[in-house]
Amino acid sequence: MNEIKNNLLKIKKSIPEDVTLVAVSKTKPIKDIITAYETGHRIFGENKIQEMVQKQQQMPNDCIWHMIGHVQTNKVKYMAPFVSLIHAVDSYKLLKEIDKQARKNSRIIHCLLQVKIAEEDSKYGLSEPDVIHLLESNEVKAFQNIHIEGLMGMATYTNDESQIKKEFEKIASFFRTLQLQYSDLKTLSIGMSGDYKTAIDCGSTMIRVGSSIFGARNYS
Ligand SMILES: *Cc1c(COP(=O)(O)O)cnc(C)c1O
Repeated sequence: MNEIKNNLLKIKKSIPEDVTLVAVSKTKPIKDIITAYETGHRIFGENKIQEMVQKQQQMPNDCIWHMIGHVQTNKVKYMAPFVSLIHAVDSYKLLKEIDKQARKNSRIIHCLLQVKIAEEDSKYGLSEPDVIHLLESNEVKAFQNIHIEGLMGMATYTNDESQIKKEFEKIASFFRTLQLQYSDLKTLSIGMSGDYKTAIDCGSTMIRVGSSIFGARNYS
C-alpha cells in the first residue's frame, strides 16, 4: 500500500476513537492530500492561509479545513468562507475580526485559544490569565459568529520527554479547570508527530500530525 495511506491508517488505529486526527498537509502537494482523502480522511491542517485557500479550491467540498498556524488579522477574510476551526487564536483583535468575517459569510467559525506552554522559544500564545480574561469578557461573549471550543498548545521543541510531558500536563490541567465553568469547551489540541502519544496520555482530544503521515517536509 501507499506509504501515506499506510501511515495514516496506522496512526488512526493506534489512537483512541474520541481523539480527532488533523492531517497536517502544509507544503505537501495536492496529490498527497488526495491520497489521504482516499482513505476516508477529511480533516486537514494548514499553517498558511494562501496555501490553504488554493488547496481548498482543488480538493472535494467535503474536506474539513483547520488553520493551525499563526493568523494575521488582515488575512482572515480569505479563509472565512470555508475554514472550520482556527487553532491559534491569541488576541481579542483577532477574535473580533474572525467574528466579523464569519458574519459576512453567514457562518459560525470555531476557534481555539492558543496558550503559551513552551518554556522556551515560543513567540505566540496567551497566558492563563489572558485566556480567562478573554472568556469572561462581555465583548467576546457578545460575538455571535464565533464559537470558542477549546485550547491549543505547542510544547517546547526538544527531545526531553519529561519537559514535554510537564508542559502538556500544565495545559491539560488548565483546560479541565476551565471546563468546570465553561461547559462549551471540549477540544484540547496538543500533540504533533513527535509527541502525540504523550499528548494523548495527558488528555489531548485533537492531535495535529504532519510528517508522520506525509513524510518529512522540504522547505527549499
Ligand atoms: C507543522 C505543524 C504541526 C505538525 O508537525 P509534525 O511534526 O510534522 O507532525 C502541528 N502543529 C502546528 C502548529 C504546525 O505548524
